[in-house]
Amino acid sequence: MNARYGRQIPIVGAEGMERLRGTTVGVVGCGGLGTTLATSLAAAGIGGLVLIDGDRPEITDLNRQFAYREGTTSSKAHELSRWLSSVNPQVAVEAHAEHLDAGNTGLLSGCDILADCLDNMRSRKLLNRFAVDSGKPLVHAGVSHLHGQVTVVIPGRTPCLECLFGDTDDEDASISAAVMLIASVEAMEVLKLAAGTGEPLAGRILTVDLGGNAFDVTEVRRDPSCAVCGHLRDR
Ligand SMILES: [Zn+2]
Repeated sequence: MNARYGRQIPIVGAEGMERLRGTTVGVVGCGGLGTTLATSLAAAGIGGLVLIDGDRPEITDLNRQFAYREGTTSSKAHELSRWLSSVNPQVAVEAHAEHLDAGNTGLLSGCDILADCLDNMRSRKLLNRFAVDSGKPLVHAGVSHLHGQVTVVIPGRTPCLECLFGDTDDEDASISAAVMLIASVEAMEVLKLAAGTGEPLAGRILTVDLGGNAFDVTEVRRDPSCAVCGHLRDR
């Protein structure tokens, strides 16, 4: 076993480590959540990462998106790919400088797990529908101000994002420590699913209020009339 991962073998086991190396994760959104999540997964020795984001870094991103530097002119997807190669050259990284839309969800077809690192409900719903239609597990995280949440969608077994959120508005205020904490929890959920260790937040949602330091886990149920996943039988 590669010495690089010696400190995490006691946690995931040698078999879990092999499972991590055999897992490809789709990281949709390379902003604050995506930067921290992808860095964490790369450091842990995930097999592959598929990065999707059509944006370029802006000055207002630099308070939390640590892979980017002032004056960068290339896309976030490619900049993050370069950063991840320096974090761990053993990880296969594929970068796509485009926004997820109905025509390019096929970019994610080779992924085993999907990570929602987006900042808008329109794209989230598209990713959610792709996850439900393809049966791939989806780890969702959202953060706004000092609040955040994380949950795991297993299509046919847990609520999907449409069941949970319906029409929720986007917000755009965020600070590094809050984003990195929520993204770290999201990355841990991906690692648990990939390595087969611990109890993922499937059918449960973690809500965090860093203003008062309240961390709560609540059970959530499927909406039988959900327009996206209602047709799937319980698994
Ligand atoms: Zn649903």
